[in-house]
Amino acid sequence: MLDVTRIRLVMDLRSAGVTDVTVLSAIERTPRELFVPEALRDQAYENTALPIACGQTISQPLVVGTMTQELHLNRRMTVLEIGTGSGYQAAILARLCRRVYTIEVHRVLYEDALERFRALQLNNITARLGDGGKGWPEAAPFDRVLLTCAAEEIPQVLLDQLRPDGMMILPLGGQGRVQELMRVTRSGDKVVTERLADVRFVPLVSTVGTG
Ligand code: SAH
Repeated sequence: MLDVTRIRLVMDLRSAGVTDVTVLSAIERTPRELFVPEALRDQAYENTALPIACGQTISQPLVVGTMTQELHLNRRMTVLEIGTGSGYQAAILARLCRRVYTIEVHRVLYEDALERFRALQLNNITARLGDGGKGWPEAAPFDRVLLTCAAEEIPQVLLDQLRPDGMMILPLGGQGRVQELMRVTRSGDKVVTERLADVRFVPLVSTVGTG
């Protein structure tokens, strides 16, 4: 049952530039209230980031919509997400591509997200607990890579796990500063980078370095 707050959020996202109907429909069909802490459920359809466990955040719906739209997904693609968090972004991706691989470094978040994927029968998401900075070599190459935590530089390991014509979206920049949402497109040996928006994400924590 779609309530009025959910419909209003989708309308707000559309007027803010998320115009791809497949992305809007994925957002409309995904119950964000199941991804936020119970005490914050009444704010689930506000267009704001909200705190989740382990000092992390579920991203602002507009940022989720923008990143998803800019990935230009289709049903044949496989996507690697770094930073499962609540699982909300992965749930949206899962409705638009063939398979999502998602990695989270905090066990509590990983386990809660798995539970949500099961409850919503999102069977095309494969989740792993670990350091996303290493990527997921056994499942590579990916059509798309999405970082939902900020990297200080474009992680070469993840770039190497992209298909030759693949695309990566990531927030680039240090903690506490405004970061730039970047799109990195591989084209054979070349790499094209574009700036999409200013954003603010929690950092990619790394045990191995990102280079
Ligand atoms: N996509 C999430 C947003 C989560 S915030 C959502 O839809 O809710 C970013 C997440 O990245 C946090 O959960 C944080 O723990 C995780 N993270 C940070 N560094 C990481 C790393 N090296 N590997 C995997 N996850 C990481």
